[in-house]
Amino acid sequence: MKEEFLHYVWKFQKFIKNELKSGSGETIVVINQGVYNTNSGPDFLNSRIKIGEMEWVGNVEIHVRASDWEKHRHSGDSAYENVILHVVYENDTPVKRKDGAIIPSLSLKGLIEGQLITSYEQLVLNDAIIPCEGEFERVNELTRFSMLEGSLISRLYRKAKFVEELWLKNNADWEETIFQVLCQAYGFKLNSEPFLKLARMVTFKRVAKTRNQMLSLEALLFGAAGWLEDIESPDEYISQLIHQYNFLQHKFQLPENMISKSEWKLLRLRPANFPTIRLAQLAAFLAQNESLFSRIIYCKDLEELKKLFSTPQSDYWRKHYLIEKKASKEIPAMGVSSKSILMINTIVSLLFAYGIQKDNEDYKQKALLFLSQLKPEKNNITKKWEGLNWKAKNAFESQGQIELLNNYCKAKKCLDCKIGNEILSNCN
Ligand code: SF4
Repeated sequence: MKEEFLHYVWKFQKFIKNELKSGSGETIVVINQGVYNTNSGPDFLNSRIKIGEMEWVGNVEIHVRASDWEKHRHSGDSAYENVILHVVYENDTPVKRKDGAIIPSLSLKGLIEGQLITSYEQLVLNDAIIPCEGEFERVNELTRFSMLEGSLISRLYRKAKFVEELWLKNNADWEETIFQVLCQAYGFKLNSEPFLKLARMVTFKRVAKTRNQMLSLEALLFGAAGWLEDIESPDEYISQLIHQYNFLQHKFQLPENMISKSEWKLLRLRPANFPTIRLAQLAAFLAQNESLFSRIIYCKDLEELKKLFSTPQSDYWRKHYLIEKKASKEIPAMGVSSKSILMINTIVSLLFAYGIQKDNEDYKQKALLFLSQLKPEKNNITKKWEGLNWKAKNAFESQGQIELLNNYCKAKKCLDCKIGNEILSNCN
């Protein structure tokens, strides 16, 4: 028996409530179970319970064993003085207040349906990535969607928090913040860290001073990223980049060895996804957008956004996937699914974060609208849900599915999940 399950049972009053008796034999009637407390202190606040002839208003504390009261050091803790009922599974000892009076107790042992306990155990003891997979198809579509929507919103709030932290570190400079979020996203999963580090070191202010000349912009990005180090026999284009970077390094007083080449990960990446190609695509994006803020925050529709990310990389990076490594065939501009991931991780997160910061629902709604217009991602997580006949129709749904699996299913938080609650509620 786990305490979190007893919380669930009390919260939803999932026990046989006929003729409840306290440990000392008084009748108990639950008028209101109280409000679940997720902070420190008793588990339920402001409960209303009739014990014997007296109606009490106060708090409820829940434990697997009554003796846990002492183990958790609640005796003498003033936060627990207002506990009116101690709900336990095993009533192994009487529990007293400071003044020696016994706190009324209620044992749930024998009052919870066996089927409910079995279903709960099937969920939490199941090693499957989605523990409810056997029951999932029976869950109402509205319940699934409501959980998915809730998961998506918490994902967007979490990402917005990250954006806000960057924004505060950047002294409330949105251009610099957007630049950092954008760079991090161009690193995709594997190289997001060195890309973010690069953005912090190079800064958007320096980029803005070089963006009129593609050679200067590429020199700044590739030089600061460490890609121009230790080149044995540079061709003409690379020689120009090295020369230009030396000039910029001096002009901007950039330190030596900001990022080492070894920080970039190439393993298991296809050449078209190498960080060198992504850097060149980032340079192409930056070269055509003077103000990131107005481009991204005030963009009108998805088509406008798609065009933003469609500019191909420069000629050299269509023919080389690494410096001095020629590609056997032309390297294309960024593909549709990569562009979609980039838009989800930049535009949507930024719009939502900006909406929160400005307390303006319109930006948040625009972020949600774009998500519902973007194609769903295809990855191991979305495939898992697809295997349960729950195919995401757009990025709104796939993002919700990703959050649900990562933050609820993997953590076995089925009791906090609406889908889990419906499965368990069907047990009665
Ligand atoms: S968290 Fe929800 S969706 Fe995930 S396994 Fe548990 S009940 Fe199913």
